[in-house]
Amino acid sequence: MSARGVEADELGARLKVYEGRPAAVAGVGKDPVNLPMIRHWCEAMGDTNPAYEGPDAIAPPTMLQAWTMGGLSGHTGRTGAYDELLGLLDEAGCTSVVATDCEQEYLRPLRPGDEVVFDTLIESVSERKTTKLGAGYFVTTRTDVRAAGELVGTHRFRILKYAPARRTPPAPRPRRPRPVVNRDNAGFWEGVAEHRLLIQRCTDCGTLRHPWLPGCNACGCLEWDTVEASGEGTVYSYVVMHHPPFPAFEPPFAVGLVELAEGVRMVSSVVGVPYDKVRIGLAVRVEFRTYEDDEGTLVLPVFRVVEGDG
Ligand code: ZN
Repeated sequence: MSARGVEADELGARLKVYEGRPAAVAGVGKDPVNLPMIRHWCEAMGDTNPAYEGPDAIAPPTMLQAWTMGGLSGHTGRTGAYDELLGLLDEAGCTSVVATDCEQEYLRPLRPGDEVVFDTLIESVSERKTTKLGAGYFVTTRTDVRAAGELVGTHRFRILKYAPARRTPPAPRPRRPRPVVNRDNAGFWEGVAEHRLLIQRCTDCGTLRHPWLPGCNACGCLEWDTVEASGEGTVYSYVVMHHPPFPAFEPPFAVGLVELAEGVRMVSSVVGVPYDKVRIGLAVRVEFRTYEDDEGTLVLPVFRVVEGDG
């Protein structure tokens, strides 16, 4: 038997001790059986049975538990045994609870004016059970409800107190965010897809520019062509991202502002050295990375630290 199994059995044995212990002794219903509560119940349940109306009304039998409920402030007569039992389960990691079923037996109807007294017993604690929700224990209580000293009904209530099963659905692989491609920068991304780093060049004054823009910053000319960058550059500046986390990235990581040999600057990942080894002035070279996901293929330029310069 595994160590875990032994532990579980020890817990089971500690829980078994509570079987037969009273959870409430001579608890008193907060209100006598009364028509307003009956009416609310019938409205909530949509029960239009005439037996629950008029001068000879009886209470719906299924209200049995309602007359014993303590509301927010609790009811009298609690022994603490049930809370102790639940406390043991909590300590053992069975922190979740679900009501599984309820059984009632009726001996005679309750009528407005009946004053309810009840005793609750911890009737049984199951062996450790494995369920879809998780492993835990079924705890059954039995409440005997009396009016004028006479047993009128019995209410059995069963809960499962369990350690929630760890649900680890395979996380969908986070998608790398896509660049925003528009008519002004489409040429750049077309180049990247072909593993070419293209810089815009003004055909009038020859000024290079990046990122891609419709016109020349130097002369305002709208005509341009491209030159292919050598891919060599240096880290001009950088930041190390720690926070906020983003699903497609694993912080910390370094983001560099890379100055290309041609003079323009470009923001991208700096790879090839640990994030805390990235420094201003490091020599880098472009590298094209391909990401495949359910959205398709994405190629991104990153900058790898040139060997011997880390
Ligand atoms: Zn120009």
